[in-house]
Amino acid sequence: MPHKITNAIRIQTDKTNEMEHSTPLFLTSSFCFDDAESMRAAFADETADNIYSRFSNPNVQEFIDKICALEGAEAGYATASGMSAVFGSFMALMKKGDHLLSCNSIFGSTHTVISKYLPKYGIDYSYVAATASEAEWEAAIQPNTRMIYLETPTNPGLDILDMDMIGRIARKHQIILNVDNCFATPVNQRPIEYGADLVVHSATKWLDGQGRVLGGVIVGKKELIQDIYLFCRSTGPALSPFNAWILSKSLETLDVRMERHASNALYIAQALEAHPKLSWLKYPFLKSHPQYAIATQQMQNGGGIVCFELKGGLEAGRTFLNRLKMLSLTANLGDTRSIASHPASTTHAKLTEEERLAVNITPGLIRISVGLEHKDDILADILQALS
Ligand SMILES: *Cc1c(COP(=O)(O)O)cnc(C)c1O
Repeated sequence: MPHKITNAIRIQTDKTNEMEHSTPLFLTSSFCFDDAESMRAAFADETADNIYSRFSNPNVQEFIDKICALEGAEAGYATASGMSAVFGSFMALMKKGDHLLSCNSIFGSTHTVISKYLPKYGIDYSYVAATASEAEWEAAIQPNTRMIYLETPTNPGLDILDMDMIGRIARKHQIILNVDNCFATPVNQRPIEYGADLVVHSATKWLDGQGRVLGGVIVGKKELIQDIYLFCRSTGPALSPFNAWILSKSLETLDVRMERHASNALYIAQALEAHPKLSWLKYPFLKSHPQYAIATQQMQNGGGIVCFELKGGLEAGRTFLNRLKMLSLTANLGDTRSIASHPASTTHAKLTEEERLAVNITPGLIRISVGLEHKDDILADILQALS
């Protein structure tokens, strides 16, 4: 079998009669049948023919097949956004009375889904710290724990969770392990190799890589994906064929893009690590990272995100953003263009200072999504904004 990155380039829809080289766009809501019998058979799930684009679509399937190849997964379903992938993976597989165990450093909207919406449906949750030991994870498991959900590296704190250890616990207790692999991407880290049953992605970030479309995908064990597929085909978070076409093309360059994002990010992290205006800087592949050993064991590189804490807190964060000349101030990450964000005054501004600290959002925290511009131009902009 070809290498994973070759599959991400070569997997393609069957050629049409036009013999196109690049996959065409299948912008169609539904698909036709030659006769009543073939239509009956498709509806009875006796054939895999496309019926309706809420269920399946060739562009969407090509994108799913590539993610399955990259992650080493059996099957998948693609969604309109990362959050609909996260939500679908919860709602399809958990029911009233179940318990979800997660880590308190997770993406903000995921935290909202877990803490505000799951309880409405009678699904209980609890969190452990990102630094929790094996014994602490074990102790948090309840008889009704149905799923363990985690993110590594975490957004925005860049904590690294030990997938081997957590995978062992999930297997021992026969709990579904669901990993958000958005920050690392499958060219850098493959949670299934550590025992994850499901992997979810916000394709909006590095998978697109150019800040154009929203998308999400869930891949993993066939029988779990079948339940997710049935839930999603009825509830309707389907990925648009146009977005799937964009995302599938993006995957052809994912490996080379991520290599450069990571080498630029390591360069920036090393250059800024001892800067006098920073109280600390975090990057998974710096020896100073608290989980450096786990990061280098489970990741191929440190990824494209660097974060640091400005001395001077909230006001220093706002001043830093105002002084940047090239880096974009925007809510996204994982773009060719470098992006700076200051969670305390933006994404997490509605929380109290105590609530922010509880999820490790310190007042002067800056997150840099390192782009593909020349590394010295990125560094120069950050240095002039710090000076
Ligand atoms: C952005 C993000 C999501 C949500 O994805 P959307 O495509 O914005 O819905 C989920 N998890 C992580 C880690 C993210 O960064």
